[in-house]
Amino acid sequence: MPVHGQSLTRVVIAGGGTAGWTAAAALAQQLGPLLDITLVESEEIGTVGVGEATIPTIRTFHTLLGLDEREFMRATQASFKLGIAFENWARTGDRYIHAFGDIGKTTWMGGFHNMWLMAKAAGFGGGLGECCVEYQAAEAGKFAISETLPINYAYHLDAGLYARFLRAKFEPRGVRRIEGRIARAEQDGESGHVTALVMENGTRVAGDLFIDCTGFRGLLIEQTLGAGYEDWRHWLPTDSALAVQTPSTDRILPYTRAIARSAGWQWRIPLQSRVGNGLVYCSAHLTEDQARTELLANVNGSLLTEPRLIRYVTGRRRKMWDKNVVALGLASGFMEPLESTSIHLIQVGVTRLIKMFPFGGEFAALRARYNEQTNVEFERIRDFIVLHYKLTQRDDAPFWRACREMAVPDSLAERIALFDESAYAYQGADDLFSVTSWVFVMIGQRLMPRQFHHMGGMLGAERLRRALESLQAGISRGVVGMPLHKDFLRSYCPTEKPDTVATRGIASGTGDSK
Ligand SMILES: Cc1cc2nc3c(=O)[nH]c(=O)nc-3n(C[C@H](O)[C@H](O)[C@H](O)COP(=O)(O)OP(=O)(O)OC[C@H]3O[C@@H](n4cnc5c(N)ncnc54)[C@H](O)[C@@H]3O)c2cc1C
Repeated sequence: MPVHGQSLTRVVIAGGGTAGWTAAAALAQQLGPLLDITLVESEEIGTVGVGEATIPTIRTFHTLLGLDEREFMRATQASFKLGIAFENWARTGDRYIHAFGDIGKTTWMGGFHNMWLMAKAAGFGGGLGECCVEYQAAEAGKFAISETLPINYAYHLDAGLYARFLRAKFEPRGVRRIEGRIARAEQDGESGHVTALVMENGTRVAGDLFIDCTGFRGLLIEQTLGAGYEDWRHWLPTDSALAVQTPSTDRILPYTRAIARSAGWQWRIPLQSRVGNGLVYCSAHLTEDQARTELLANVNGSLLTEPRLIRYVTGRRRKMWDKNVVALGLASGFMEPLESTSIHLIQVGVTRLIKMFPFGGEFAALRARYNEQTNVEFERIRDFIVLHYKLTQRDDAPFWRACREMAVPDSLAERIALFDESAYAYQGADDLFSVTSWVFVMIGQRLMPRQFHHMGGMLGAERLRRALESLQAGISRGVVGMPLHKDFLRSYCPTEKPDTVATRGIASGTGDSK
């Protein structure tokens, strides 16, 4: 029941993909009794159907929703994710993992990578990944949830099942769902605020605050309000993706693979029931036919679906919250999926809205703050993704040469210069990615700093050697004791393979067998 003085109660969510149902779930769970929540979606239009790799923040968000991990994993055919393996990025044949864990033990003085760099300079120290549990567990295909060796992880999930799971949980908890196509939006003549959605069958869905989750079309934020779009393709030049599903393999890897190809990269996302594959590419360098050939030459087993083309423009809406419309998900912009950050951005967007919820009906200042924070967040993530492209040393294709030579945002140029000069990396207040993430990617992309902090010198070479050996041996022992990821899944959250997945083959793919 709204309290006295609350003038904004009716929230209308347009769209029922990952963004729509995430927004509905969070609002219902956190503010349900104070609001009247309606979600409008069209099964005929459907959802984008991709977006299956996540980052560890999803676990905090699920706690906020009160979800049970095993139930969620069973319902979405989910597997665990310990990081992303980048293959062929700096040079063809290179491989590194951006793992979700810490590198050694960081001190207030600086990151542990400085110790490792000092060890390397002295001729010992092993690989950087040997100082990280999640890295080693990923390499070994192992996984466990244990109190003695806690690890940081995220999930791979089936995007369609995820929206369905959230709907099944939260529709009975006060979300009114309306099925059908929205034809247009009505606006207030004076303020321009949206007052109602008008459905194709003539029904009006009135509201006070609208959340645009209609995907790329941005039915309210763009088609109605014309909020504008900032195009980032000069920094992130891919604009197309072909997606296809293949059967599950024997080994369910506990990490995503991002394999650089001739004009983009290929993803492999292993779920319990199948593998999600796709090629993200730049259409100026590769035709759709060439992309299809490149993708199908590099998937394993029969195809469960036809390859599906998705076009996009990487960038962001100039105003994420315009008038009384807040855009979430693809309606708010498109972040290159390389670091699996879009679902996270939806979750942060809706939690920010909950914190800033405009109960009294006036929100000009709240809206300005929301937009400012969201903009910074998008930019920091953008920089981290651009980093992967910029630091390539590949000279074998025009696409990679163009990436190497492109000018990058000043904010990223500063970070690269800092690390190159002194191994200094930082996580600012609004940064999603930790120092460890920056270090894994910069070193993985062969940016070896010219200097580093000499904190390791305080130990002396012999003690430094022993400290590193002991750390790495402890990690190895811990990983040896873990079960294989697929065995852990089988005991923790077994799922039944859907019939469709087991039986519906479309065509045969060839390709590498990793
Ligand atoms: C190639 C690719 C790979 C990706 N990989 C990842 C990843 O690994 N990790 C990650 O976090 N994110 C990823 N993403 C992003 C992720 O897919 C999206 O952020 C997420 O799926 C949210 O989509 P959405 O709900 O905004 O849009 P959609 O799924 O498109 O949903 C739009 C909704 O609006 C409804 N709708 C639209 N118009 C109307 C209308 N007129 N009337 C009624 N209803 C309407 C539709 O029916 C649908 O319900 C990827 C995206 C792409 C393109």
